[in-house]
Amino acid sequence: MPASLQGDLQPAIYRFKLGGFEVASILDGKSMREGLHPNFGANASAAEVHALARANNIDSNRFEHPYIPTLVNTGKQLVLFDAGNGALRREHEPLRNRLPDGQLVEHMAKAGYRPEDVDVIVLTHGHPDHIGGLIEGGKVVFPNARYVFGAAEFDFWKRGENVREARKFNRELFMRICVPLADRSSFIKPGDEVVPGIHAVDAAGHSPGLLAFHIESEGKRFMLTADTCTQYVIAVQRPEWYFDMDDDKDKAVATRQRILDMAATERLFVGGFHFPFPGIGWVEKAQGGYRFVPHSYQFNL
Ligand SMILES: [Zn+2]
Repeated sequence: MPASLQGDLQPAIYRFKLGGFEVASILDGKSMREGLHPNFGANASAAEVHALARANNIDSNRFEHPYIPTLVNTGKQLVLFDAGNGALRREHEPLRNRLPDGQLVEHMAKAGYRPEDVDVIVLTHGHPDHIGGLIEGGKVVFPNARYVFGAAEFDFWKRGENVREARKFNRELFMRICVPLADRSSFIKPGDEVVPGIHAVDAAGHSPGLLAFHIESEGKRFMLTADTCTQYVIAVQRPEWYFDMDDDKDKAVATRQRILDMAATERLFVGGFHFPFPGIGWVEKAQGGYRFVPHSYQFNL
């Protein structure tokens, strides 16, 4: 009897040591999307985007869009960066065909973490795929956590001015999910410390107050870039190309260039929320832009 075909099997949790901290990438889910162009590179030609895709051995039309929250155990506190999609797809009709069911809690369990273990949840920004997993069926998913928001991001969504048409439903979600958590939240600005070893970095553009985070323990450094670059080839190699989900396109371009330059110059170990799982590696300068070099075994030694 030949062995039967078993179907795809892909990793969903990855944990490594960063000095005295433990860091875990946890896959919340993935979407498959059509139209690499014009989702990416609306200010370039389709031919240019397709050529870059081909040169990097990725499909020139369909693309995988993963969602990767990060857990950092500092030894004193368990800090979760972003909550993934949660039950958004099931609970909100407009998102039915856009987002996957969030599997963060299920995959955290496989890595040995319970929702009640999480002490702090840091929201890099207020887009649905980052806040959706905070609440399910009207109840908080992580019962013991306090929340940390970027002050500029929280104010933007709460005030509700200049929200572009495509983000109107996002604003409703933010009012429903995040605003009721305000009394258990603290509000930070770039440069502020979250817990010892973790500091916020300005990454505004993709959203009005997007924050990246610099994480350091015993001289080992890791920069969580969140949604600064939303695709590991296109957004990194051509940071000047627009991405349709960036709320302020020109600011997002300037932020990409600044953060990629910092990552390449300082040889920072980086994580990207929408990079291929486990979403971690390095950025190096390359012809005309930068290049993402995935992690292999450097942090296993
Ligand atoms: Zn995102």
